[in-house]
Amino acid sequence: MTQLSHRPIKHLEELLHRMTDRIRQSLELPEILDATVDEMRRFLGTDRVKVYRFHEDNSGEVVAEAVQHQRLPSLLGHRFPAEDIPEHAREMFLTARQRTIVNVAKGKIGISPFCRTALSSPPSDLWFRPIDACHVEYLTAMGVQSSLVVPILHRHQLWGLLVAHHSTPRQFGPKELKIVQQIADQVTVAISHASLLHLTRLRGQHEAITNQVVSLLHSSTPDPLQKALDKTVSALQCVGGRLYLSAESSKPAQLVTSGIQPELSRTGGQPARRRSATAVLEQLPDWQSWLEAEAPNQWMTQLWAIADVSQIEMSWSIASALIEQEIRGLLVVRLIHRNRFLGYLSLFRQSIDIETVWAGRLDAADPRQNRPRRSFETWRELKRSQPQPWTAREIGLMQDLADRYASVIYQTQLLQTVQALNADLEKRVIERTAELQQLNQSLIQENIERERALKELQQARDSLKRLSHQNELILSSAGEGICGIDPEGNTVFVNPAAARMLGYDKKDLINQFMHDWLQHTKPGGERYDWPHSPIFKTLKYSQTHHVTGDLFTRQDGQSFPTEYVSTPIHESGKIVGAVVIFKDITERQLIERMRDEFIAVVSHELRTPLTSIRAALGLLAQEKIDLQPEKRQRMVEIAFSNTNRLVRLVNDILDVERIKLGKVTLDKKPCNLANIMAQAADEMRAMADNHGIQLLVDPLTTQIWADPDRIIQTLTNLLSNAIKFSPNGSTVEMRAQQVDSKSVSRVAQGLNVTGTDALQAGIDASGSVILLQVTDRGQGIPENKLETVFARFEQLDASDNGHKGGTGLGLAICRSIAQEHDGEIWAQSQVGCGSTFFLTLPEYAEAGPEDGS
Ligand code: ADP
Repeated sequence: MTQLSHRPIKHLEELLHRMTDRIRQSLELPEILDATVDEMRRFLGTDRVKVYRFHEDNSGEVVAEAVQHQRLPSLLGHRFPAEDIPEHAREMFLTARQRTIVNVAKGKIGISPFCRTALSSPPSDLWFRPIDACHVEYLTAMGVQSSLVVPILHRHQLWGLLVAHHSTPRQFGPKELKIVQQIADQVTVAISHASLLHLTRLRGQHEAITNQVVSLLHSSTPDPLQKALDKTVSALQCVGGRLYLSAESSKPAQLVTSGIQPELSRTGGQPARRRSATAVLEQLPDWQSWLEAEAPNQWMTQLWAIADVSQIEMSWSIASALIEQEIRGLLVVRLIHRNRFLGYLSLFRQSIDIETVWAGRLDAADPRQNRPRRSFETWRELKRSQPQPWTAREIGLMQDLADRYASVIYQTQLLQTVQALNADLEKRVIERTAELQQLNQSLIQENIERERALKELQQARDSLKRLSHQNELILSSAGEGICGIDPEGNTVFVNPAAARMLGYDKKDLINQFMHDWLQHTKPGGERYDWPHSPIFKTLKYSQTHHVTGDLFTRQDGQSFPTEYVSTPIHESGKIVGAVVIFKDITERQLIERMRDEFIAVVSHELRTPLTSIRAALGLLAQEKIDLQPEKRQRMVEIAFSNTNRLVRLVNDILDVERIKLGKVTLDKKPCNLANIMAQAADEMRAMADNHGIQLLVDPLTTQIWADPDRIIQTLTNLLSNAIKFSPNGSTVEMRAQQVDSKSVSRVAQGLNVTGTDALQAGIDASGSVILLQVTDRGQGIPENKLETVFARFEQLDASDNGHKGGTGLGLAICRSIAQEHDGEIWAQSQVGCGSTFFLTLPEYAEAGPEDGS
């Protein structure tokens, strides 16, 4: 004390700095405390400096110690019971932060309160009073003669004591007390730092564990829940744990276990077969009701932290399941995320044995409890089967982990639900797609069918159209008139031929009563009344009538003879109308008349020679009549000549008819006109001579396109007529010339041509044509007969017996031949002066007039 007291202040401050530095060098509390006791012991030079730390139960433990030369026994690690430092003393340490200096030899204790105001203490920093005898005894038992005690406070709690012991009496002065106080203050700071560090570390551990569990929960390895649970169990130093996930809509409940598990099957000592082998703790109604009854941990509404299950009330089934496995501690969290209950996370702890080393102990049962401790010999205490309470840190960690579990499980379930929905959606999409494809296919098929049907319909329409067009064409082009009428006799159809024949416009007849406009008349001119008309009978009695000769009336009032058929139209066995098909037979009647006349004429013509022949032969045949030979000869000649005439007649009749009917094939070819004219003249020369006629021929050498025999026949006929009808001594001329058809005009057939110039008469031809003329100086032909003579059996002088041997068919044959050669024939004449017959024939061009043949 004396030495210390005299140390220079500077030296003391350095010392303090050094000690402070050492304390601050570390954040680890044991190191700081070791440095503290070491430096303080050296500073004070005492035999021992120790740090005594209070536990929650007010017992204490020497946590740091520096001892000089074994002069005092080491107390490091020894526990001291709470009674060693009585409550009032602890109170003083805390409230007054009272420091004590004990001098055992002098039996005094110096007390130095840090806060003067807290106690009614004297003005001096340090005041002494007699020490308790038991305190003296206590220290003496420890071999301590003097001691200095300074309280260490942390967060306004008595954390511990900084104690210096010396085995001999020693004085501690105010300066030392001050230094020690400062050291104690430094220790307080260090404790704060260390406690902060400890907390930070715990937080770090907490986060590390949480992260590990979370990463396991999220890992894609198999059984992520199992791995996370294993980690949770080990991190919280448990013997087992389980994760129960309640059943979902489509998923059954799931249980993951780790380590020791409650044994439900052996609970209650009942036979195992009585209980369900699949019984799950969390599914027991007892479990639910027990949790409901048991208050959850005070600040965690869904967490139950039970340190010792044997201390609480619970159903026997659960208790026995736990006790079977020596489970004492139970930490249960109800997993809830977003208000959805997911299951339970439970951890189990078994009991442990706790060993404590006591530095001697007062016997509480000893009535002499104030008797000072005589020995500090250590005493080892072993507490078996102790429950391990859950610390706040562990509970916090468990809650954090449970939150993570809940979040991950919720997300997983959500994901699974989404996946299931997706899969379902995909399945439905596939099904729907298949359905749509099928529908599409059938639509395509239907479309194809429809298109085919449409095509067929179109084809049917087309063919119907074609048919109706054809029908229309047939009806339109039919030569016969066709009229359709309804059952009442109104016109429903008229074809163009009918309209044309009747002189009406089609539309004027439609819907008109047929009988009105037709003015149907009998051949004799008597008008039909409707009920007696054959057409009415067709409608009324379904009769088909073929009628010839009835008259129909045109719009202009003219009637014409017809041949018609009226036919009923049936549909479904009913008469729905009639069709009248008719033709105008005016021309036919004319032809028939002409034919009848022709036959009459021919018969007449044939009858004359036949009568002559019969008469002659009749005379010859009569034996009674004795004819003179001359007369007989004459009869024979008559018969012969008439027979010849008959033959000529028949030949000519046949000829003219055959040519007219086109039955004679002309052998047309290029031929020399001069030769033809010469041949014709040669044939007729004898006849001319017989008649005393001079025949003059002026041939034209040119090529014509003709059948030479037929042209010779024509020319000989013209020459024969000219000779026949010319007086003796006269001349007959035949000549030919080439004329330009362009300079002539059209001459209608049958026109009387009176001009002298053939060209003036006109020729219907193009290019040049050959004009042949046969001229005589005979009796001539009256003007009104110039065309008639070309008709059949037309002869001018009927009085001339035998018509000069003619048949009256020659010129008709000539005209037919001329026409067949695309030529014309006509006559000019002056009665008493003579006649000229003209014949035009086409000239032959190099390439031929038609086909070059
Ligand atoms: P036919 O055999 O009677 O001659 P054609 O047809 O040749 O018959 O002649 C008809 C009639 O035309 C003759 O019968 C005659 O009266 C009259 N005819 C024809 N050619 C001449 C002519 N060159 N001169 C006077 N009359 C003629």
